[in-house]
Parts: sequence; structure tokens; C-alpha cells
Amino acid sequence: MAYVSGAERTPDGCFICAAIDGADPEATRYVVELAERTIVLLNRYPYSPGHLMIAPRRHLADLAEMSADEGKALFVTTQRALTALREASQPGGFNIGLNLGGPAGASVDHLHLHVVPRWGGDTNFMPVIGDVKVLPEHLDTTAARLREVYAGLPAP
Ligand SMILES: [Zn+2]
Repeated sequence: MAYVSGAERTPDGCFICAAIDGADPEATRYVVELAERTIVLLNRYPYSPGHLMIAPRRHLADLAEMSADEGKALFVTTQRALTALREASQPGGFNIGLNLGGPAGASVDHLHLHVVPRWGGDTNFMPVIGDVKVLPEHLDTTAARLREVYAGLPAP
């Protein structure tokens, strides 16, 4: 949890909003899908390859603040993400979760849902992908592959 929290700390503002408005090229680099109500982007410090973050476009911190339409869009976007990840990399399972509030591990106050693909025997993988020198190229490759898969999915 500390690992994810550190990765998401953005002293200069909200990296999810920056990815949505396109203001920061480094933030938009890992956007996989920008839909009417949601954004899907790769986590820069993934637990596993293809670790996605799915957020409503509206900057809000609390799940309880979401409208029913935003909630539905978030869930449908999550379903699309599972479809895309299955096609891209055939994971055997997923961890899906929300960290709401600082004590729970959230360090950016823009609600986002984590989708972490899992494979049998992948528990030893983190030390390998934890090497930050390896990450950028790996993430670009993953992002390109996922965008390709998303392009072939039916419109949301
Ligand atoms: Zn935001």
C-alpha cells in the first residue's frame, strides 16, 4: 500500500485531471481510454503488467459523491477493462479495489479504481518490475497494446 501511495503522490496537482485535460504529456502518456465519463490509464508503478486505474472524469474523492450515471459508467468501464486485459494478456484473475481516504492508502483525492491482472505464480514478479529503469519502456509497450485492443472493442 505504501508503494502505491508513494507512486500516486502528486504535489503539483491531480495527475488524473492532468491526464484528462491533456495539460501534462507525462500524464497523458499512459492513458488507454478516455471516454465520455471515465478515463482508463496505466499505473506508472504497477503491481503487475497491465495494472489499470479507472476514474470518473469529474474530480471527486468519495464514492458517495458519485452520481448514479457516473457509477454505472465506472462499472461499465471496468467491465471493458477486464475484456481488454483478457484479450491483451490472458490473466488468470484480477484484483479490483478502491482506496478511499489517506488512511486507506489514497494519496490523490481523485477517486480511482485499481484493476490488477493476476497470473498463477506471479507473486515473485514484483521485484522484477520494481526496477524503475525497466518500467517506462515496458509501460509504453503495454499502453500501445491495450490501445490497440480497445480500438477493436465495441463503443462504450
Ligand atoms: Zn482530479
